[in-house]
Amino acid sequence: MDFSIDERTRERLADAREWGRAAMRPAGLEADRLGAPLPVDHPYFAKALERGIGRTRWPGPAGRAAGDRPPASVVATLLLAEELAYWDRGVTIADPGPGLPETNVLAMGTEEQKERFLGPFLEPDRPRWACFGMTEPGAGSDAAAIRTHARRDGDGWILDGAKCFIGGASRADWLLVQATLDPAKGRAAQRAFFVERGTPGLGDFKIEKKMGLKAYESTSFTLRACRVPAANLLGGEERRESGGGFKTAMATFNAGRPIIAANAVGMGRAALDEARNFAREHDLLRDARTRDRLEAMARRIRMARLVCLRAGWLAERQRPNIVEASMAKALAAGVAQETTTLGMELLGAVAARGDHLIEKLYRDVKAMDIVEGTGQVQRVIIARSLVGLPR
Ligand SMILES: Cc1cc2nc3c(=O)[nH]c(=O)nc-3n(C[C@H](O)[C@H](O)[C@H](O)COP(=O)(O)OP(=O)(O)OC[C@H]3O[C@@H](n4cnc5c(N)ncnc54)[C@H](O)[C@@H]3O)c2cc1C
Repeated sequence: MDFSIDERTRERLADAREWGRAAMRPAGLEADRLGAPLPVDHPYFAKALERGIGRTRWPGPAGRAAGDRPPASVVATLLLAEELAYWDRGVTIADPGPGLPETNVLAMGTEEQKERFLGPFLEPDRPRWACFGMTEPGAGSDAAAIRTHARRDGDGWILDGAKCFIGGASRADWLLVQATLDPAKGRAAQRAFFVERGTPGLGDFKIEKKMGLKAYESTSFTLRACRVPAANLLGGEERRESGGGFKTAMATFNAGRPIIAANAVGMGRAALDEARNFAREHDLLRDARTRDRLEAMARRIRMARLVCLRAGWLAERQRPNIVEASMAKALAAGVAQETTTLGMELLGAVAARGDHLIEKLYRDVKAMDIVEGTGQVQRVIIARSLVGLPR
């Protein structure tokens, strides 16, 4: 395996480092201290837009180049995800852009839908967001159990249900909402619908309280007899019968796992640097217990990064990587929790005061074990695969 990077990736990483230090870290600390997401009119977002953040990967109707081209390789994408989360993972997710549902739309959307929903993200005139709503109060890990219901009504669809913990929901231009045509038919009956902001029946937005990652909003909302046009069914009319909605949603989560793992590695690395700086400043480096802790942090982070890059390396070669992606996510999220805990121990009472970056990282990393498939669920996938059971 070769994880070397080209000059362009090196430049992108250096650029991310500079942006992270100057803008992301301060914005993340500000949100954490206020205990609220960065408001949509926060100057951070205008600056992000100026840098080309918030654009779609979709090349546009004529295949014209989008401003912010994706990094050259999966390995480069993972290294970039690690670097950005090093500075602030919450701000990474708060960044404008089509976000999580972009992959679903690129995979399954009609050309008309790509133009309508991704088009505004080609050269955005203002920070714009989109979101993907799968989770419900009664359906988290078991995504097949969602109850949000869609029924055909003339030339449209009527949606009823409730979603929770959806990233960026109240500021999104459109929400890609996962719903079932028939709860008795499980995953085969799931479809996704574009619901535009302001659609009557979409409401009750409530920003959830979170222990960490406060820079971005995780929001619950309801759909009450919310009517969307037939053209808002992801994939168009042909998907009404043929389905594929559940599979595409799951494929999005599978593809995201190494990215979450890379984010966790970056957060662990930030904890290591903070702990090492603290030890240096307080003349603790001659203490063997301090060095033991730093060693344990560094060793675990290296291990997690290698497993994560291997998952990306396989994806790049279009080789099956579901088990590796699950291993990367399960391992890296755990490592990030262990390293921030070791950092908290090293700083002692200074960390416990609650105003040190280590303490923020300690709270921020927990979500890495929850989002896009919990640690337990990853371990179930790995274990079933080990004994030859279907995943
Ligand atoms: C910060 C944050 C951001 C999020 N963003 C989004 C978003 O943008 N869009 C979205 O749709 N959702 C989002 N979510 C929701 C997230 O996907 C769910 O929280 C996650 O799927 C877990 O669901 P749950 O919280 O209902 O826990 P549950 O599924 O109820 O699980 C509870 C516990 O049981 C364990 N468990 C469950 N099933 C099994 C099993 N089969 N075997 C072993 N153990 C099991 C879990 O690991 C967990 O420990 C977000 C959540 C958080 C915390």
